[in-house]
Amino acid sequence: MIVEPQAVDFDRPGVTHYQVAFPLDGTWGYSLVPLTVVNGALGRNANGVLVFGGTHGNEYEGQIAVKRLCRDLDPARMAGRVVLMPQLSESACVANTRISPVDGVNMNRAFPGNARGTLSARIAHFVTTRVFPLGRVVIDLHSGGREGAFPLCTSFHPIPDAAQAAEIETVARLFDPPFLFIYSSAMASGLLTDEAEALGKIAIGGEFGAGETADPVGIRHAYEGVWNVLRHYGLVEGPVRAIRPAGAAAPRLVAAAELAAYVPCPRDGVWEPLAELGAAVEAGELLGRLHDFADQAEAPREIRADRAGYLLMTHRSARPVKGQTLFVIAQEVVR
Ligand SMILES: [Zn+2]
Repeated sequence: MIVEPQAVDFDRPGVTHYQVAFPLDGTWGYSLVPLTVVNGALGRNANGVLVFGGTHGNEYEGQIAVKRLCRDLDPARMAGRVVLMPQLSESACVANTRISPVDGVNMNRAFPGNARGTLSARIAHFVTTRVFPLGRVVIDLHSGGREGAFPLCTSFHPIPDAAQAAEIETVARLFDPPFLFIYSSAMASGLLTDEAEALGKIAIGGEFGAGETADPVGIRHAYEGVWNVLRHYGLVEGPVRAIRPAGAAAPRLVAAAELAAYVPCPRDGVWEPLAELGAAVEAGELLGRLHDFADQAEAPREIRADRAGYLLMTHRSARPVKGQTLFVIAQEVVR
């Protein structure tokens, strides 16, 4: 059903699949943003769940997992409300790009949005004003795109409110990833989860793949993780299930909360990574080499770990430029 944004009926019983028509900026026509509302028949539940994929267009695990949920959630066996948006930045998804080619805006920097702004700002404003009030739990499923590679992780910012922080960590664990990653709020602002956190939501992100591929393991964690969230909050029946094989260690809680951990590339070059994503590394350990082919006889620049910890991100592409984040080492949070 194609509708204008103000015409979406979030209270309609059962499953309704919408394409929400946001007028384009420069031409006649629309970005038709998919949105599915599931209102369960088994009564109300105060913990509405809101799930987003395709906030970045070239990250596919979340898009696929959320699309599967659009078909698989059965309102006859569900309580409460779930809102699913598998391709939030629909124009970027169609174009296989991180940011929207329509307005040049990164959807994950566009929040809280603007009702009179460009396409991405108007979609973000719709989410902030119409979708966020419907849920307590906000899940934004990412992958590294072309630039970054991460070990499978769910992620969240440092949260000042202790109760909110504890519940966010609990929900992050429901995706059963190898890592729970507490990341810096200082690198960027305007994130979907920034706005959700500020509204007091239980907001988590996550990295479920990289490199414009569709990793089946990442899709499984994204999809089954949302089912676990629905079980945990009682929207569907049944116990939370492990997603990794039996015997897997508990998710490791790691943090890189300060900006200094996000090490920039010192110069343009060809990047040869040497350390495994997620590996435990020592301070000074060789992480990779930067090659300059202007002189093939010149030794490469060695890039070494600035601290001990776990390698939570490296540049994915072989062609980082000076200033791009080259790697992040996160340190285990011991309680
Ligand atoms: Zn992303």
